[in-house]
Amino acid sequence: MCVRSVKALWLAARHVTGRSPVQAHTHKLRRTVSRTKWVPSQEVLMQRVGTKFIAIHVSATRPSDNTTAADIDAMHKAKGWKGIGYNYFIQRDGTTEQGREPDEQGAHVSGYNDIALGICMAGGVKEDGVTPENNMTEAQWKNLEYLVGRRLMAYTSAVVQGHRDFPQVAKECPCFDAIKWAYDLGYPTPQGLKAEPHPERWKTK
Ligand SMILES: [Zn+2]
Repeated sequence: MCVRSVKALWLAARHVTGRSPVQAHTHKLRRTVSRTKWVPSQEVLMQRVGTKFIAIHVSATRPSDNTTAADIDAMHKAKGWKGIGYNYFIQRDGTTEQGREPDEQGAHVSGYNDIALGICMAGGVKEDGVTPENNMTEAQWKNLEYLVGRRLMAYTSAVVQGHRDFPQVAKECPCFDAIKWAYDLGYPTPQGLKAEPHPERWKTK
């Protein structure tokens, strides 16, 4: 993902949409679907003990599937889990859905679920359904950037990394270098903060 200055991004977004990037993102996030739509159980799930990581995932579903949080919920229930294992899900068109409550413990990184928020993007494999591929859409990248930035405001000691960046993970997920992605945006990573663009950038969103 190319790195642009905030001003350039702002101007480009206004030129295209007539709205500021923040307004554009907010517009998308308003489409967030309540988890009660697909988790009828009133069971209160365990809260995380803290949030040291924001873990990025992909669903490993075909781009043409237009996978939703409800689809993932069904898949994870079929595994015997308590519904969707992620806290957020970003559809191919950028629509951001809430899975588990933001502070609830998810089921997405073995051994780290009590300290990691889970965000999953639809896609990540080719149309053959198995070959890993970085094929997320521009709308997904933009809403991931916005969502992670917002969550970092709540979880101020968290760092951003991909599923495969956790120890002993033998998966490609999320099929791109999430640490580099975050680092280039000035978000906190296990490798620290990038000096340019300004590391405080996300706080202004
Ligand atoms: Zn994953």
